[in-house]
Amino acid sequence: MTKQHFSVSISAPRTPVVEKAAALLCRTVAERTGIRVERVPSGIAALDLALDSDAAPAEAFRIEDAALHTVRIAGGDARGLLYGVGKFLRSSRFDEGTFSPCTWRGGSAPDCPVRGLYFATHFYNWYHQAPIEEIERYIEELALQGCNTLSVWFDMHHYTGIGQPAAQAMLARLKAMLQAASVVGMGPALTLLANEAYADSPKALRAAGTGLGHYGVELCPSVPEGRRLILEWRREVLEAFADIDLRYIWIWPYDQGGCACGRCAPWGCNGFLKIGRAVAGLCRDTHPNAEIVLSTWLFDRKAHAEDDRGEFAGLDAALRQDASWVNWLMIDSHQEFPRYPLEHGVPGGLPALNFPEISMFGMAPWGGYGANPAPERFQAIWDRAGHLLSGGFPYSEGIFEDINKAVCLGFYWDRNRRAVDTVWEYAAYEFGPDAAENATRVVQRLERAHGHRAVRDSQTGELRHLLPNADPAAADECCALLRDAESRLPQFAREGWRFRILKLRAELDRELSVGGGRHTEFADACFRELAELYRVDPARTIASVRPPFRMGG
Ligand SMILES: [Zn+2]
Repeated sequence: MTKQHFSVSISAPRTPVVEKAAALLCRTVAERTGIRVERVPSGIAALDLALDSDAAPAEAFRIEDAALHTVRIAGGDARGLLYGVGKFLRSSRFDEGTFSPCTWRGGSAPDCPVRGLYFATHFYNWYHQAPIEEIERYIEELALQGCNTLSVWFDMHHYTGIGQPAAQAMLARLKAMLQAASVVGMGPALTLLANEAYADSPKALRAAGTGLGHYGVELCPSVPEGRRLILEWRREVLEAFADIDLRYIWIWPYDQGGCACGRCAPWGCNGFLKIGRAVAGLCRDTHPNAEIVLSTWLFDRKAHAEDDRGEFAGLDAALRQDASWVNWLMIDSHQEFPRYPLEHGVPGGLPALNFPEISMFGMAPWGGYGANPAPERFQAIWDRAGHLLSGGFPYSEGIFEDINKAVCLGFYWDRNRRAVDTVWEYAAYEFGPDAAENATRVVQRLERAHGHRAVRDSQTGELRHLLPNADPAAADECCALLRDAESRLPQFAREGWRFRILKLRAELDRELSVGGGRHTEFADACFRELAELYRVDPARTIASVRPPFRMGG
């Protein structure tokens, strides 16, 4: 049944999250169809937003026919209602001037308690650069997908101290993101690196390089003055977030971080635990409600062939002695999920969260060629490791991995949900049901072609592109499928960034694979459009997150 009019009532108590759920519903319908949703009293609305803890547990919802002409979304609590609104919207159809409301009925409850995202707020990437209103809107859109936690990082190496105006501006920006997250029911979280430091940290106190990613300014916590400075700087950061009720604080080992000196090594089960425990104590002093997430990122990853640090085994032994200062372990790595927990279980028997690397894998620059969807990749990782996990925080450097975020949030909500089904639902919601089939096929083909790399010719200095997995015929087919879909897209979808980054990726795949990786004028224009969508600052955004357009000229 399509409608030119639509009305909503709120019978739930008017909390900020309930108000936000109603506002997002009205905004989405209005923006996508032009129909203004009327707010009317309960009993006469087409849709009623309710709370009913008998109908659904916390964070869960039911969508049901309540009366002759009224559909009811009943949340077990305010967040459940918000997620129910998300499901309602994703199952509706939006055309210019008509709205076809969701016909799905039933109940749904999340499987995993922690359904987070991690915004890497640095390098002048989108999170660093975009107007805060754009980021707040993105946070709201992620909440509609069931995301209930957001973590950010104050990347110290950009600054010389917390008092620097740029550092204060970044702290204000991070807090604005966490406040926006709270309004949509997300628990705010903060990432701390165990021994990170400011750009001008004292050279005599610096950590020994680990070969696993370092800014080169990190401090050695086994030097007493280094330890003192680490704790002083951590306390300053924690106190800067005093007005945010942090739900989780992460303590992070490597990349960037770590120290390979004789007194700290092996870092993951020695120096890291000593300083980590002291940092956890500071967290408890400053944020008593926060739970500690101890990360094991790059544990046992070999920096050298003969490397055998035994970090997971050492961590297991240490936590079995005393895990009183840790609530969760975070486990993941660049490529495969680490083997130790798969073979021996989670160290210390603690609950575990993952940190899917949805941004950087197999492409450089990250997101430089547009959307980087990889549902099969994340399905395979989830199939291997999902049974160990209570949720997680995908690692995000921008908006180009929006589909990968949806896939991961889909697993956290429903462990048995297939990634391809999430992609189809995403495409139906963002591009319209008529385009969902084509877009899903395009996503699958683009994933097979993934592996692009921009290089500079050593002779001429000219940009070239390596596409080892490219298939010109498949790329051509992707362009044809999207052109066919585009002709039927509603306006909101055609002009939206989600369709643009998918289409630009397909166009670039074709242009570059047909041309043997040559950097053409057409490719350069595509890269420039991506840079605009990513809010790139050519002077400051680092090459890793900047689409490879020609600089200057
Ligand atoms: Zn050290």
